[in-house]
Amino acid sequence: MPQPSMMAFEEALTALEKASPCLVQPETIPLNQALNRVLAVDIMANINIPPADNSAMDGYALRLSDRKENTPLNVSQRIPAGSSPTELQEGTCARIFTGAIIPKGADTVIMQENTSIDHHGQVTFTQLPQKGDNVRLAGQDVKKGQRVLAKGTRLKPQHIGMLASLGVNQLNCFKPLKVGILTTGDELISPEASSLELGQIYNSNRLMLVSLVQELGHSVQQVLHAKDTIVDIETALKNLSRDCELILSSGGVSVGEEDHIKQVIEENGFLSLWKVAIKPGKPIVFGRVFNTHFIGLPGNPSSTLVTFHWFARTAILGHSGETFNRPKHFKVKTDLQRAKAIGRDEFLRAYLTDNNQAQPHAQQSSGALFASCVTDGYLHIPAHRTIDTDQTYDFYPFSSF
Ligand code: AMP
Ligand code: MG
Repeated sequence: MPQPSMMAFEEALTALEKASPCLVQPETIPLNQALNRVLAVDIMANINIPPADNSAMDGYALRLSDRKENTPLNVSQRIPAGSSPTELQEGTCARIFTGAIIPKGADTVIMQENTSIDHHGQVTFTQLPQKGDNVRLAGQDVKKGQRVLAKGTRLKPQHIGMLASLGVNQLNCFKPLKVGILTTGDELISPEASSLELGQIYNSNRLMLVSLVQELGHSVQQVLHAKDTIVDIETALKNLSRDCELILSSGGVSVGEEDHIKQVIEENGFLSLWKVAIKPGKPIVFGRVFNTHFIGLPGNPSSTLVTFHWFARTAILGHSGETFNRPKHFKVKTDLQRAKAIGRDEFLRAYLTDNNQAQPHAQQSSGALFASCVTDGYLHIPAHRTIDTDQTYDFYPFSSF
């Protein structure tokens, strides 16, 4: 059973979604800078896409309803993409190319592979088309007036393409969230240092957290490291609070004598949540410090990654105006068996094998980051569930985060 002070995973996630208001203002930006930015308004189509009926193939445009039999047709005009055709002469066809406008009077395009041309240049069909074949109707993709993208969407390359096709070149997006990062620990040194002394390890969370924040499209304003003292941590948090809207920290959130984050937060702000029943990652702190939203993640790198993916990401979505979309997942089975259930939701780093089987990596220590570099995602074992081969579980690919 979780200890009374531990909050269940789902409860914590829902609480966090509710407690993560948008902190950023909208601004107008050019489309070529909009990748990974969050829309601050709905985007409505002010034109049809495609704007006019056009051909899906290279071939011949004709009015099919006019044709009683397959007699050879004269070619009365040639219509490349980008040109504007004249009305189709009755009883003729038009040479047409992909993307070219269907001439008035035509209703069908026959692809060139299904035609033959005689020595007079007349066209016969080797296969009869259906009316409307190979015609892309105006508005078949997007209708004028329709909502194309919703406020809160983070723009992917395909969204940028869609916006360009609507002729949008300036748009209203939220400013990136300003994030500050603090790592803690006397044992940590920068990977720039030439070698490790006994007891030291390289600081892996610092650049991992920077990358995680940047991957979500936000701005890392300042990155600090503090020794395991109250004064050092307090000073760093105070500095970060000056120009950051959210502070993320790693380490120092347990209850050991060297863990001071909780105390510093309590003395300079408040805690809204501490300890969530998940594995890896249990100690985790949400609150405010020096009037700035704060999330304290555990220091073990795998715990840092998992708690970022589930909790920091959720808070960042809310604070940056992005719609809360729970990470996509699907059902899998696993070969693993475990008769004993635990009181925490567990996220095993697992390979996805053929036929939707998940195979957990052998090394699941919260300190071990390697497993998450070679596996495909998280196998989610809910709290109090045993693991058995006849059960199904949710699998979350890393790419869902
Ligand atoms: P802590 O949460 O501070 O008790 O740290 C738990 C474990 O994670 C310890 O083994 C630390 O050495 C390690 N750790 C903490 N922060 C980092 C970091 N930034 N990079 C790599 N390991 C870390
Ligand atoms: Mg520490």
